[in-house]
This record gives sequence, structure tokens and C-alpha cells, in this order.
Amino acid sequence: MSYSLTLPTGDQLHYQLKRRQRRTVGLKITHSGLVIHAPKRISQSQLDDIILQKADWIRKKLTSITANKIPDIQWQHGEQLLYLGNPLTLTIEHDARSKAVEYEPGFLLLAMPNSEPTLIARKVIQWYKKKALSDFTRRLEIFSSKLGVNFTSLTLSNAASRWGSCNSRKEIRLNWRLLQAPPHIINYVVCHELSHIKEMNHSAKFWATVASIYPDYKAAEKELKALSAKLHQI
Ligand SMILES: [Zn+2]
Repeated sequence: MSYSLTLPTGDQLHYQLKRRQRRTVGLKITHSGLVIHAPKRISQSQLDDIILQKADWIRKKLTSITANKIPDIQWQHGEQLLYLGNPLTLTIEHDARSKAVEYEPGFLLLAMPNSEPTLIARKVIQWYKKKALSDFTRRLEIFSSKLGVNFTSLTLSNAASRWGSCNSRKEIRLNWRLLQAPPHIINYVVCHELSHIKEMNHSAKFWATVASIYPDYKAAEKELKALSAKLHQI
């Protein structure tokens, strides 16, 4: 149930109330706002008192969450995607038969009988993965010869928190979402993972190896961190 309470400041606070079999009142700030889990028997005025006591905390939390929020991708015509750091506009045309995804600089064209969002998402992600495989392979080849190492294989990953990895069998995994990032960022991750073939750690020796093929790695690392939430939007 949705409720609203007037705070002493005059602001309206909206929240979702979920009555549960529990003893205490739990307040949670989610992307859709304040959610309160309350015991079944607590009265509305008791609940209001608790909320008022916590009003400052709630306001701060709500402000920070809306400031950092990146909207979810809407899988529909006109949506803005990212490809190698550049905007890519999703263009959906009606066609009796579903056609292969086509790329034109600045546009990703989909022709399909119905514009079901899950279907669009699947097709677009498939396209990203296919492109990522050839793009990352090319970069791995360039930088592995620069560094004088050989990698065994490249696998695309879907990891939520890692951009890449490299194991002792020299198998490299790279997150396909990186294809959205500017080329110099992809190059950095490629150089980072290739350097692990020489140094399986993050020692000073490892970073010196990275620097030998990618001198400005510190700036790239920072930039990647800042971009992370945006790249995970998809
Ligand atoms: Zn590493």
C-alpha cells in the first residue's frame, strides 16, 4: 500500500507500507523510494512517530539515491545506447520478417514483426556480443605482440563486477559490456589482462608491465570506475 506523510518541513514523504509478521519496523530506501516493513499490529500514529524520528536519515538517503540513479534502458525505438564510447540510437522498423541487426554509424537498425522489449533486448545484446568478440580479439592480438606474450583463448563474460580476468592457462575473459566504452578504456582492460600472463598478481612489477604497453593506466582505471554504473545499465 502507498502512503504519504507530511513532514514538519512541509514536504510530503511518500512510502510503501508492507505489513508483515515481524516485531520491529524496518525502513529501506530503494530505487523506487522508501519501503517500510512493519508489524501487523502497529498503529498508523506509532508508525508516523517512527518515520518522523528517522526523517533526516530518510531524506539524505533518498537524495543520494536519486542523484546516483541511472535510468534503466527502455528497449524501444529511439533509445540511446553506447558503442565504443559513441551514442548509438536504437531504430526499430516494422517488418513482416525478423531481419539481422544492421549497424550504421550512430544507428542500430532492427526490423521485426513486433517490438516486444525482451525480444529487442535479446537481439541487441546478441549483436553486442558478436561485435565484442571480434573487436576484443583484434585488440588482444595487437597488444599481446607488443608485450611479447601469447594468450590461449578469449571468452566473453557477463560478470556483474569484473571487467576481465586471466588465469594461469592464459585464458582471457572480458565482459562484453566493455564494447560500450571508449576504445582507450577497452585497450586498458586488454593490456591489464595480458599483463597478468607475465605477473599473476597486482604487484609493483605487474603495474610496471602494464605501464610498458599502456603508460596512462591510472587515468584509465579511474575513468573505467566512473563509467562502471553506466556500462552496467544494459
Ligand atoms: Zn588484475
